[in-house]
Amino acid sequence: MKGLIQDYQLTVPAILQRTETLYGPKEIVTRKPDKSFHRYTYTDFVTRAKKLAVALDDLGLEPYDRVATLAWNTHEHLEAYFGVPSSGRVLHTINPRLSPDDIAYIIEHAGDRVLLIDETMVKLLDGFKDDVSLEHVFVFGSAPEGLESYEDLLAGADEGAFRYPDLDEEDAAAICYTSGTTGRPKGALYSHRAIALHSMASAMADTIGIRERDVVMPVVPMFHVNAWGLPYTCTLVGATQVMPGAHLDPESLLEDLANERVTVTAGVPTIWLGILHALDADPETYDLSALRSMIVGGSAAPEGVIRAYKERHGLNVVHAWGMTEMSPLGTICNLRSMMDDLTEDERYRIKAKQGSPVPFIEVRAMAEGEPVPWDGESMGELEVRGPWVASAYFNTDEGADKFTDDGWFRTGDIVTIDENGYVEIQDRTKDLIKSGGEWISSVALENALMSHEAVAEAAVIAIPDEKWQERPLGVVVLKEGAEATEEELLSHLSGEFPKWSLPDAMEFVEEIPHTATGKALKMKLREQFQDYTPAGS
Ligand code: AMP
Repeated sequence: MKGLIQDYQLTVPAILQRTETLYGPKEIVTRKPDKSFHRYTYTDFVTRAKKLAVALDDLGLEPYDRVATLAWNTHEHLEAYFGVPSSGRVLHTINPRLSPDDIAYIIEHAGDRVLLIDETMVKLLDGFKDDVSLEHVFVFGSAPEGLESYEDLLAGADEGAFRYPDLDEEDAAAICYTSGTTGRPKGALYSHRAIALHSMASAMADTIGIRERDVVMPVVPMFHVNAWGLPYTCTLVGATQVMPGAHLDPESLLEDLANERVTVTAGVPTIWLGILHALDADPETYDLSALRSMIVGGSAAPEGVIRAYKERHGLNVVHAWGMTEMSPLGTICNLRSMMDDLTEDERYRIKAKQGSPVPFIEVRAMAEGEPVPWDGESMGELEVRGPWVASAYFNTDEGADKFTDDGWFRTGDIVTIDENGYVEIQDRTKDLIKSGGEWISSVALENALMSHEAVAEAAVIAIPDEKWQERPLGVVVLKEGAEATEEELLSHLSGEFPKWSLPDAMEFVEEIPHTATGKALKMKLREQFQDYTPAGS
């Protein structure tokens, strides 16, 4: 017997419509490239999102066509977050930190027809424009000669022609690509329903807890897993939104946090480490008394940083974990009432864990085909399921082994789960390095190194780094009698990889330890180089 409840579809345009009717006067603030501020209301935002939807119709786009963005956190980007899915098309946010080759690949793989690009990023076009079949490129901000302007596109669109569409909640609304260990990036294709439910769950008090009276600044980029869904969550509840644009240096962010009276913010550990150093050096200038929660995720937040923020600056850092394949929120570390009696040290110890699953996300840690007990000690690979977890990658069989036959997603993170359901990441199975919140493929670097004529074997491992959490180190065995310097090997890599993803150094060794199946034994290498500091530093 079915319940007798209306068939109401959970969609992105339903969020837009709610905000239009309820939160018109609320504000959205953006740092512009020249560091001045752009301010407008939700009413202005809704008008422009609708115009974008109409403009996409006028361009002749079909339902579900993909519209890409290459942009910072700005009000124009927010318009695309809503205008594109509210016209029945799919928003594809591209990470500008990918190599031009990968950007070209994902534009073609996603089948993007239109690209909306930030004025500060147009130079990236040179790296890929000849390799893609985009039909239109519109520039946010001032368009250089020869490129179309986003403002002109909106100016030519009639808001009155917009009708809230009748979409199926299972329809695709957005796509993000994530780096693969081997092979090309793979797409997580989000449905309207996933975004709507994720927004509700993240707004809950025991999750991030976002309300209408909050002022939220997502530092986490809108080009990486939808800025952890915050643009959708904030718009759903009508919170004031502060967009830092391209200015992610500690001083600019501190000014934004203080001057806009931000209450909730979110970013990767590298961002909060930079801000911690700036606050330690100058604890007086910035009034952060409005700030009640700093969400940190993307990489592990060290306990020392969580503690330092609280003890030295009275600020509450909240640890969260998620993935591109899960929209992204999976766990969040809020302490429960029963933990009030623990000692301060015990509570910090828990706060450094990644936290317990948010509502409707289930977790299990698997070892040898069985879930391990929730005892805080037994380790297994974290598997998840829930209404915003991917069920497959878009248009490829690659990575199919991450989706289990019984309906779970294998995260590649090795964890323990304690008796209260708090997950703690111990290691990862995926051969990737996460530096400042962005992925570097060790396998891709190794293959490129091994294509050098002097290299017999190479392994690239993550070494701990205070600022970036992890940095790549190349470990190289040269062919007998061959010679190559660190500079030569780095310049060999530099054509193919962005500068930030090159190894910090090359260590030349006699041999690399191997597993029984002949693979480089990375664990052993990581142990060997765990206290590594490059010569001369
Ligand atoms: P991405 O899809 O780029 O967001 O990366 C997701 C991956 O980042 C996870 O599978 C983890 O390996 C890592 N990650 C995310 N949040 C955390 C965290 N709080 N602590 C440790 N690792 C994290």
